[in-house]
This record gives sequence, C-alpha cells and structure tokens, in this order.
Amino acid sequence: MTQATRHTRLLIIGSGPAGYTAGVYASRAMLAPILVQGIQPGGQLTITTDVENWPGDASVMGPDLMVRMEAHAKEMGCEIISDHIQSLDLSARPFVAQGDSGTTYTADAVILATGAQAKWLGLPSEEHFKGFGVSACATCDGFFYRGQEIVVVGGGNTAVEEALFLTNFASKVTLIHRRDSLRAEKIMQERLFKNPKIEVLWNHGIEEIIGGDSPRGVEGVRARHVDTGEITEIPCKGFFVAIGHAPASDLVRDQLELHNGGYVKVEPGTTQTSIPGVFAAGDLTDHIYRQAVTSAGMGCMAALDAEKWLAGHETKTA
Ligand code: FAD
Ligand code: NAP
Repeated sequence: MTQATRHTRLLIIGSGPAGYTAGVYASRAMLAPILVQGIQPGGQLTITTDVENWPGDASVMGPDLMVRMEAHAKEMGCEIISDHIQSLDLSARPFVAQGDSGTTYTADAVILATGAQAKWLGLPSEEHFKGFGVSACATCDGFFYRGQEIVVVGGGNTAVEEALFLTNFASKVTLIHRRDSLRAEKIMQERLFKNPKIEVLWNHGIEEIIGGDSPRGVEGVRARHVDTGEITEIPCKGFFVAIGHAPASDLVRDQLELHNGGYVKVEPGTTQTSIPGVFAAGDLTDHIYRQAVTSAGMGCMAALDAEKWLAGHETKTA
C-alpha cells in the first residue's frame, strides 16, 4: 500500500460524465487536476448498453462512450488515478481526502462528482438472494438467465431498458410496477408494450423473493396488489431491481448541506456547495434530470466555477 501525500489545486472525485467533463475543462484551464475514479471507472453508463440520447451519437455503447471520455480528459492533461476516496475532511484547508490505496490527497478545491448508486427494496429476502438470482444490473448479469423467466421491478427508464435488454436472454420477462402507468419515456414504453416476451403486472408491490438454499437461488417472487392485497406468485430465476438511484453523498453527509433525500445542495445556477471551494456536479446534486448530458454540463460548470474560485483565493503550492 502506498502512503504518499499528493497535493493538487483541484481534486475531482468521480469518473462519470460529470467528473470527466470537469477533468477536460479544468485541464484546459491549466489547473493540473487530479481525478480519482472510484470503484466504478466510467460511472453508471458502464452498466448499460445503447445510449441514444448523447448528442452527436444516434447510438453509442455506454462503456465505449466512457472510455472515450476518459481518453479525452487524459489527452487534455488530467491526471486520472485508480483509487477510491474513503474519507474526505472539508473542515480545514487544504481539504484532505484519504484514498483506499493509502494515498492522502490534499486539495485547494474539490469537485464532487460521485453520482448515484442503485436503490434496493430493502427486503430481507432480497438481501439473502443478492448475487444468487437478485441483481440490479441487467447488462452485468442477464447472461446467466438464458432461456429462463425473469422479473424486473420498477417503472422508470432503467426498468424498461433492463426489461427490454433481458428479452435477449430470457424466455419471458415480467415487469412489476406499483402504479398503473410508467414514468419511462414514451418511446421506451412503446418498445416495451410491443415486445411479445414482456408482460406487465400493474399495481403490485414486491412482498418477498422466494427460493431455495441448496443451492441458493431464486425461484419466484410474491407480489401484492396495492389496493386489494391479493397475492400473486410469479416463477422466475432472475429478479432485477430497477427502482432508481440514490445520490452517493456518504462522503459529505455531515459536512455539506443536503436536500431532497441526500442530494448535495448547490447555489441555484452554480455548482457551489455550502462550503466555499467545494463544488458538486452530476447525479450527486440533481434529483430531477439525471442524464449523462446534464451531468456532463454540470461537470463543465463545476470546473469553470472552481477555476474562478481558485483565481480569487490564495492557494497552497504543490
Ligand atoms: P456516475 O455516472 O454515477 O459516476 C459516479 C462516479 O463516481 C463513478 O465513477 C464512481 O466510481 C465515482 N465514485 C463514487 N464514490 C466515489 C468515491 N468515494 N471515491 C471516488 N470515486 C467515487 N443517461 C442518459 O443520458 N442516457 C442513457 O441512455 C442512460 N442510460 C442509463 C442506464 C442505466 C442502467 C443507468 C443506471 C443510468 C443511465 N443513465 C442514462 C443515467 C446516467 O448514467 C447518469 O445520469 C450519469 O452517469 C451520471 O453521471 P455522474 O458523472 O453524475 O455520475
Ligand atoms: P426513476 O426515474 O427514479 O424511476 C424509479 C422507478 O422505480 C419509478 O417508476 C418508481 O415508481 C419505482 N420505485 C421507486 N421505489 C420503489 C419501491 N420501493 N418499490 C417499487 N417501485 C419503486 O429511476 P430510473 O429509472 O433509474 O432513472 C433514473 C434517471 O436516469 C432518470 O432521470 C432517467 O431518465 C435516467 N435514465 C435515462 C435513460 C435513458 O435516457 N434511456 C435510461 C435509464 C435511466 P413510481 O413511478 O411510482 O415513483
């Protein structure tokens, strides 16, 4: 384990569209930023397939797009480090971030771009079968369920996309949603309803995931009608949870102002958080749009905000 201390004028935490875009802009502003990638280099788009709404690409594979973004940031001079920040102290200056690698990063300014993580239902049976039939990533685990029946829970873009993708492997996909209409984009809904392998079970919540222990594996789900309470059991080997994402704000939970269930609060129209010199961008701060392009846009804003802030403040030299 390395024990080095690295100082930088600008530390960018996170390597999704927000982090890499901040890296491009901050490098071009000659801030010599350090970007720490975290345990998911490239962020959420690395667990999807086709992205059809990234301007300039009618269709691009999410992982490919993120490889290109990383290369772009590198090319502009951003130092990209494979490490994960386990703690961040914003109470004194320079700010101090501790990496899992043993490296301590000190920084005059920080851009937080830690994005969001998949939400879980919170059922004990979900926990019990995680990795044994319960998953939150169709692109990662869909292949295991070739020719089998699958259940997906959720009603947003992710759930619809996961259900459609899983028809490449499954004999049947049942989408269970707690209401009688989806929140996914209309074009996605059209594709879903047209797909003969997909059935939708409306107005149902998941009561329990059922399965066996030798070997451990899912055999079905028990769903409850939200009005009548009637229970329906649906056999399946794979159960995919796609009920949205929660902001990855643990690092700053007790240090920065948060709102809307954990999103980092920024001054409207800027990326400035409640601590001067600390900026936030992307899904970490956005409970409304949560798109690659808006995250990238905020990454740009954060780098420009940081550049302006650093220019007006005395900073520690490297
Ligand atoms: P993320 O992409 O969430 O990246 C967060 C980064 O922070 C990761 O690199 C992670 O490793 C890092 N990180 C977290 N904690 C730490 C830490 N402690 N230390 C260091 N690094 C850390 N949007 C679209 O516009 N079009 C789509 O087609 C689309 N499809 C999607 C499909 C799926 C399955 C999902 C889940 C999302 C999809 N989205 C899509 C949404 C899009 O992926 C997000 O809006 C976008 O990735 C958010 O970017 P971000 O940079 O804010 O954070
Ligand atoms: P989302 O839009 O927040 O949708 C979450 C869905 O899960 C909702 O339908 C919600 O139901 C349901 N849900 C939440 N908690 C639940 C629970 N405890 N039990 C059962 N159901 C629950 O999340 P998302 O689909 O992951 O999308 C996140 C963001 O990424 C969105 O902004 C989306 O546009 C973006 N994204 C875009 C694309 C694309 O552009 N192709 C693809 C994927 C994601 P209700 O509807 O009843 O609230």
